[in-house]
Amino acid sequence: MTNPSPNKKSQLAIRRATEMGFCMGVRRAVQIMEEEASPDVPVYSIGEIVHNPHVVAHLREAGVVQLPGPDDIDGDVGAATAATVKNGRVAITAHGVGEKVVQELTAAELDLVDTTCPIVTRAQRYAQKFVRDGCHVLILGDPGHKEVRGIMGWTTDASGESRGTVIESAELDDLAALISDFPRGFPNKVGLMAQTTNKVEDFAKFVSNLMLLQRNENFDLHAVNTLCHATTGQQNAAATLARESDLMIVVGGKNSANTRHLREVCEAEGTRAFHVEGPTELQSDWFYGINVVGLAAGASTPDSSVDDVEARIRSLTGS
Ligand code: SF4
Repeated sequence: MTNPSPNKKSQLAIRRATEMGFCMGVRRAVQIMEEEASPDVPVYSIGEIVHNPHVVAHLREAGVVQLPGPDDIDGDVGAATAATVKNGRVAITAHGVGEKVVQELTAAELDLVDTTCPIVTRAQRYAQKFVRDGCHVLILGDPGHKEVRGIMGWTTDASGESRGTVIESAELDDLAALISDFPRGFPNKVGLMAQTTNKVEDFAKFVSNLMLLQRNENFDLHAVNTLCHATTGQQNAAATLARESDLMIVVGGKNSANTRHLREVCEAEGTRAFHVEGPTELQSDWFYGINVVGLAAGASTPDSSVDDVEARIRSLTGS
């Protein structure tokens, strides 16, 4: 029995966002790893090189060996890595790592290759500068995300104490609670920044709500825009396409923050959206009554994954 073809009569149109897929940072990291890896001398990546299973599988075939990430290692990351790696280079991934991890890897005299995205490096430098200028750093982002944990690793002051806090919500009430419940009182000088892949609307809300709260509290506020232009460009393109589509399919790793945000952006436009890693997750009933389906993809999604998803939609719908 063949699959039903829900849109055979209406001829489904499939459109792609004008900006989607591999960003500069991911393209650069993958290229460095491809150039460095060889069958004789492997490259070891400390954790997942990017948040996409297809890219990780491709690099594995090219000779990249994945080690546990810094958060999965108790104690000295350099010593633990040196105990595993006897021959080959060791790569810091595109999301970057904290200052202490860099020091431990350097002290272990490993042959390092740094694929940290330059935009993430820029955010790390701002975090460090804020601390040197006497600010407590407030980062709008996901506290469990690798990039954010890495940025937090650059907020340690000269006494070894962290001067950083990660906040997930930009809502006024949540920020008011943060101020009133802050351990040992709210700092008198704060530096605001965001996880690079955050939504521009959320960072703008974060800054403006803290400015509103400043009216009743005595603190200095400094802000720097650490958002990535590649991500905001992809979000704008996805939003535009979502407005013109009946359904959005967003392709990317399930643990990719920027892909999750793309789906949210599409839903904010009032368009139903599904986030899939690959073609096997697509369900034919999603396409019943749909005339236009839009495709968007996260910054770590290769074009081949989007091609596979489009081919599967055509096969499911007979279009
Ligand atoms: S999304 Fe932006 S910050 Fe993240 S790796 Fe790509 S270019 Fe760098």
